[in-house]
Amino acid sequence: MVVGDIATGTDVLVIGAGPGGYVAAIRAAQQGLDTTLVEKDAFGGTCLNYGCIPSKALITSADLAHEAGHAEEMGIHADPVVDMSQLRDWKDGVVDQLTGGVEKLCKANGVNLVEGTARFKDKNAVRIAHGGEGQGSETIEFEHCIIATGSRVIQIPGFDFANEQVWSSRDALAAETVPDDLVVVGGGYIGMELSTTFAKLGSNVTVVEMLDDILPTYESDVARVVRKRAELLGIDMHFGEGASGWREDDDGIVVTTETEDGEESEYYADKVLVAVGRSPVTDTMELENAGIEADERGFIEVDDFRRTDVDHIYAIGDIVADTPMLAHVASQEGVVAAEHIAGEPVAFDSQAVPAAVFTDPEIGTVGMTEEEAEEAGFTPAIGQMPFGASGRALTTGHAEGFVRIVADEDSGFILGAQIVGPEASELIAELALAIEMGARLEDVAATIHTHPTLAEAVMEAAENALGQAIHTLNR
Ligand SMILES: Cc1cc2nc3c(=O)[nH]c(=O)nc-3n(C[C@H](O)[C@H](O)[C@H](O)COP(=O)(O)OP(=O)(O)OC[C@H]3O[C@@H](n4cnc5c(N)ncnc54)[C@H](O)[C@@H]3O)c2cc1C
Repeated sequence: MVVGDIATGTDVLVIGAGPGGYVAAIRAAQQGLDTTLVEKDAFGGTCLNYGCIPSKALITSADLAHEAGHAEEMGIHADPVVDMSQLRDWKDGVVDQLTGGVEKLCKANGVNLVEGTARFKDKNAVRIAHGGEGQGSETIEFEHCIIATGSRVIQIPGFDFANEQVWSSRDALAAETVPDDLVVVGGGYIGMELSTTFAKLGSNVTVVEMLDDILPTYESDVARVVRKRAELLGIDMHFGEGASGWREDDDGIVVTTETEDGEESEYYADKVLVAVGRSPVTDTMELENAGIEADERGFIEVDDFRRTDVDHIYAIGDIVADTPMLAHVASQEGVVAAEHIAGEPVAFDSQAVPAAVFTDPEIGTVGMTEEEAEEAGFTPAIGQMPFGASGRALTTGHAEGFVRIVADEDSGFILGAQIVGPEASELIAELALAIEMGARLEDVAATIHTHPTLAEAVMEAAENALGQAIHTLNR
């Protein structure tokens, strides 16, 4: 008998072991459901292997090297040398520790792990192809399925990642050396995080962006703080230019760009990093056999429980239409899907979804902006606290940026927040909790915050919205 003839059954089949899939599988198993998790590449998905974790490890190292070499004002004189091979070993060690941990956690919770590529046979079964040619296949029948196949990097015409001079974010994170000159195509969050990192590691970085600013999904005053700092780091930014091609040159490569009016420019580099976004992986699973249709961009529509049009098949993470491509969103959707399958009363609530950008300085946002609050019919009360007035920010040597809170003028309910400044990715958690718990401005303002901390700026922003701030002028 060939292995392919054997069909096994499971209550919940999860396809893809990224932060969406492995979290969903663990939670489903915790609910007492027989759960099987299929992964074709590496446990931990994009986030742990090629995204969030390696990028943050690289960012931390680059920050450390840069800080140490730029602390003369504090009386510290150092000229750090970055050993890329050692740095890579350390980063890879962090990744291995975490991915190994995911595998162990899955096993400890009783999740059956299967390595292979899943394709739908019909709406109750998948075929799993193991490894390469001749490695066999098996059929798994399921009561419920959670699709968590994530996303892949978008390639633009003329920039084939097969060329060693053309980097995807994954190539950049695995770099063996720091290029002297790096052109980054795309000023979104991945492009700006990596531009900042390589600038701090010593590259001359040029960013080309088709739109008229970096970080286009953030408010202009938030993006401005990051842009100004990027300029100080020597990052050369060009707006209104689309990358049109590249060619080899005696000393490296030449990247050409074009404006809407057809004006061309050329930039010399050793590598070009293309970071223009990611697209959902939904075209390789034969979804049609299960009766599921992706939209024209490849995303899958789901309801509040993350159910697709086929009731017993769920979709979570980067493949879902209308939610941001973020690891913590994928995980939360995984929890919701698993608990819904188990019959728990849950639903995905998009009111307090935080997002962070690990640029210098960082950005942290949650909930509504002032404009979105107005559009939703609220009269927004705005409170803002500049980090320049924060004692703790000044003692860290990083006092750019601000905390802004958006609340409903009538009720005082906190609707959203935007933070740009030191540790914004950590500080935003307090305001996500505030929204989640239905806190009012008074609740945050009356909470005693430790001194001296950056978190005091959150309290002061709430006080500022109430006209009661002590360390900044009230509006
Ligand atoms: C450079 C970079 C930095 C990032 N930084 C952050 C950050 O700081 N914070 C943040 O929140 N997000 C960040 N992200 C985004 C984050 O990585 C994704 O949002 C997250 O990984 C999505 O999780 P997921 O489970 O939906 O998919 P993925 O993590 O992509 O996992 C999907 C898994 O499914 C597997 N798979 C696909 N098809 C099949 C199949 N047919 N059969 C079996 N297995 C299959 C894949 O191999 C993969 O392992 C970053 C991304 C990148 C690229």
